[in-house]
Amino acid sequence: MTNDDIRNQFPILGTEVYGKPLVYLDNAATTQKPAAVIEALSRYYLTLNSNIHRGAHHLATEATEAYEQVRRKVQQYVNARSPKEIVFTRGTTESINLVASTFAERYLSEGDEVIISGMEHHSNIVPWQLACHKKNVKIRVIPFSDSGELDLDAYRSLFNERTRLVAVCHVSNTLGTVNPIALMAREAHAHGAMIMVDGAQAVAHTAVDVQQLGCDFYCFSGHKMYAPMGVGVMYGREEVLDELPPYQGGGEMIKTVTFDHTTYNELPFKFEAGTPSVGDVLGLGAALDFIQSTGLDRIATIESQLLAYATEQLRTIDGVQIYGTATNKTGVLSFNVGSAHPYDVGTLLDKLGVAIRTGHHCTQPVMDRYGIPGTVRASFAAYNTMAEIDTFIAALRRIAPMLA
Ligand code: PLP
Repeated sequence: MTNDDIRNQFPILGTEVYGKPLVYLDNAATTQKPAAVIEALSRYYLTLNSNIHRGAHHLATEATEAYEQVRRKVQQYVNARSPKEIVFTRGTTESINLVASTFAERYLSEGDEVIISGMEHHSNIVPWQLACHKKNVKIRVIPFSDSGELDLDAYRSLFNERTRLVAVCHVSNTLGTVNPIALMAREAHAHGAMIMVDGAQAVAHTAVDVQQLGCDFYCFSGHKMYAPMGVGVMYGREEVLDELPPYQGGGEMIKTVTFDHTTYNELPFKFEAGTPSVGDVLGLGAALDFIQSTGLDRIATIESQLLAYATEQLRTIDGVQIYGTATNKTGVLSFNVGSAHPYDVGTLLDKLGVAIRTGHHCTQPVMDRYGIPGTVRASFAAYNTMAEIDTFIAALRRIAPMLA
């Protein structure tokens, strides 16, 4: 496996920490950015900066065209039917809040039910709690097995005539499990419910085709797919988005305003109130170019090789317990070393140059499910190498006896 050509595109990977080469294995939190993305950002501010959509001047027209071109790129990337179905947000969290709030207003009433899963990130739990609480709507939770797979029989049994929506992650950020979204979507639709997918941990690792998945909404963040922070996407089926009320009010999302009455803009602008983060959107466009020129297949192959090797090596260390062993997994490896606190493991790894994440990973219910306070999580991207896994494992071997 050689990926020097990928690695060389990421300037930050040459960094040293505590005099050691950085081994960055915190990609589920955020990926590093290739030079092309950083350049797209600075090019925007150096040559194109202006507010979009409203301007009659050259820069505004050019910036608007560049921004709308990224929308079309995103549309193609997830195979949406129309660019009208692609709404730019600040990230997955804002996308899910948008869906929860507007869906609740339009479609939920007292006594209705929403299904989520037990492995959701807090950002796919709390927005539903906020929205459902206001309407007296019940949230039901799909349990998962010890290996981290959703119990699909339990899922089927949760539906009833009051089920309105399923909100589930495509890939779990803590367990790495890839959930069977197409099957879950068919089940939801057969019961007259819609489905919203949290794709934060999927879009950079596996091909996403929203039509093939059959989802009504699909939410993700740019910064977990090599793009800058500050931009995300909410995909929604046009027929559904047309039915939803606006999320935020302000400039851009209106057609006409008087003190008596306001009419709203067409899709997708109805959901993009105020000045968007234009530079970050252009950075997202460059990130999509990076992914496409590298090849998602190649990225997925590299990451699955890294996962297989790291898992095998980790199992040779005494006292290591891995959480999340689903058959269909992406490059996320959660574990604990004996009874050592994850934070202690993380701090010691850091001193050896290895960046991983520790804690509940914004999935406290997952920790409760296993009866643990947290895990250590290593997560991989296309630029990681087998040699980095060796460094990570050697570092763990060195610190494990200190923590025993
Ligand atoms: N959903 C999942 C599965 C995640 O992993 C994350 C971030 O870690 C989020 C949602 C929230 O993403 P953001 O903080 O970019 O809005």
